[in-house]
Amino acid sequence: MEKLALLYAGKAKEVYRTNDPECVIIYFRDTATALNGQKQGTIADKGMINNLISAHFFTLLANHGLDTHYLRTISPREMLVKTLEIIKVEVVVRNIVAGSLITRLGYPEGTPLATPILEYYYKDDALGDPLVNNDHLAALNLATAAELNAITLASHKINNILTRHLAEKNLLLVDFKLEFGRHQGQIILGDEISPDTCRFWDINSGEKLDKDRFRRDLGGVSEAYHEILRRLTGGNSSVQG
Ligand code: 5GP
Repeated sequence: MEKLALLYAGKAKEVYRTNDPECVIIYFRDTATALNGQKQGTIADKGMINNLISAHFFTLLANHGLDTHYLRTISPREMLVKTLEIIKVEVVVRNIVAGSLITRLGYPEGTPLATPILEYYYKDDALGDPLVNNDHLAALNLATAAELNAITLASHKINNILTRHLAEKNLLLVDFKLEFGRHQGQIILGDEISPDTCRFWDINSGEKLDKDRFRRDLGGVSEAYHEILRRLTGGNSSVQG
């Protein structure tokens, strides 16, 4: 697979064209942003760790019959994925109150939710990714009702699979963000699943092992990312050529 021109540079990832129009290469960077870009920095080894953790989760989901964009890991910081037409919606699934839900509902951080909450955000940096509902998405023509249904079903299924898997590693899946896209007429999962996009707490101590350590200046950021990789792969993440 030949790596060609840069297609897109985001806050944490770069996307490169390849000689196959159906595939692109994602390069994971160490750069980090928070608070809608107001806070910027780097997290040592983050690109490598998020690439390997995402590959781990995408493989787990594929083993449970879920379609994802992941094809293979091609270097410590690069994965080959299917080309997607990105749907401009961020899906957040929450199991425990944290982050923006604290201010929105006034519940204390750590309150378990009786059933998972699924939220949609319109993916638009200039607007600060506002919370939207099904009607907004339909009115803005962002996704059809059938696509939204597929996205919702897949998101709940992903939550069940990840929650069970993480519990085996003594981790709580507090909440996470997903992004989907269209590929050859199918809705498939894209983006990444990593400590940048999920909240992971140690099941016993409640210690935060995710990007909240960066957002809230808690220290030990890179160490937390390393700890998640260690628990998930035991240091045995394979990089296929
Ligand atoms: P909250 O709405 O509480 O800030 O975020 C909920 C969950 O979605 C967290 O796990 C958070 O990491 C993830 N999330 C929401 N929006 C974004 C985003 O724009 N970028 C990243 N990396 N994660 C997000």
